[in-house]
Amino acid sequence: KEVLLDIQNLKTYYPVKGGFLKRTVGNVKAVDDISFTINKGETLGLVGESGCGKSTTGRTILRLLKPTEGKIIFEGKDITTISGTRLRKARQDFQMVFQDPYASLNPTQSVGEIISEPLKNYKSMSKKDIKDEVMDLLSRVGLPPEAYHKYGHEFSGGQRQRIGIARALALKPKLIIADEPVSALDVSVQSQVLNLLKELQDEFKLTYLFIAHDLSVVKHMSDRIGVMYLGNLVEIATNDSLYAEPLHPYTQALISAIPEPNPKKRKKRIILQGDVPSPQNPPSGCPFHTRCPMAKEECSKVKPILKEVKPGHHVACILY
Ligand code: SF4
Ligand code: MG
Repeated sequence: KEVLLDIQNLKTYYPVKGGFLKRTVGNVKAVDDISFTINKGETLGLVGESGCGKSTTGRTILRLLKPTEGKIIFEGKDITTISGTRLRKARQDFQMVFQDPYASLNPTQSVGEIISEPLKNYKSMSKKDIKDEVMDLLSRVGLPPEAYHKYGHEFSGGQRQRIGIARALALKPKLIIADEPVSALDVSVQSQVLNLLKELQDEFKLTYLFIAHDLSVVKHMSDRIGVMYLGNLVEIATNDSLYAEPLHPYTQALISAIPEPNPKKRKKRIILQGDVPSPQNPPSGCPFHTRCPMAKEECSKVKPILKEVKPGHHVACILY
């Protein structure tokens, strides 16, 4: 297996301003020291409740946000602090598909303009070649040729997400970060868009970081899954291993919430008490200790580090 993306001890903090002088009075630790790798051609699912740092992780990797600490290594090259033309060049290799297909398309541009924009910005191609390429992309994502002259508002949510995907594909990227790409869509069209993403992955040899708040969506998409809680990666494992034997009490709670049609396989639902604490003032020790049904006294004192407890299965919890 060849590593495409190597994230090392990544931290992304946002300053919090306060008082009438608007001084920095603290930090929101949106991403607080996470490490993982993604292999070429695989899909890594990243799951957790809203506000746990998943989107911030994705945006930091794309260098849309500035990392506070740590390293982002893409194809063996450190891209953590590159800027200018080097960053511009690197950006061709990674693209994002956004959550909200209604907000992410420019309403003043036709679909043809939207999809051809990255080609115009990055490639020296003739007008005709660009148009041919856009028509090809439209058909690959399952849109009719007439879509070329239409505007985003003329399409349904699922079709708009197809337009967003065509645009993301235009530069033949190596990595696509899909940030909850189907959570704004009707359940009936969700699986169509997920299937399309899978087909395109095979066809274009894409690698995905697939962000979702729901473990049932990533299950069908991911080779491996990482679970985030309050800016921390608390467990990461292969798909099979994670669902068959979730180790972290938080992952166990998330999995127990997935509806199971087979009553024989149904497990007791674990209801978590309380809310996710503020990332501006995270709990000491294990970030999950204020809600963990298994918490012991020392959990509030020592922060557990992510450890490999079975081949390929890592967890951050003192129980292991
Ligand atoms: Fe729960 Fe303690 Fe494990 Fe944290 S370290 S998940 S509080 S048992
Ligand atoms: Mg988000």
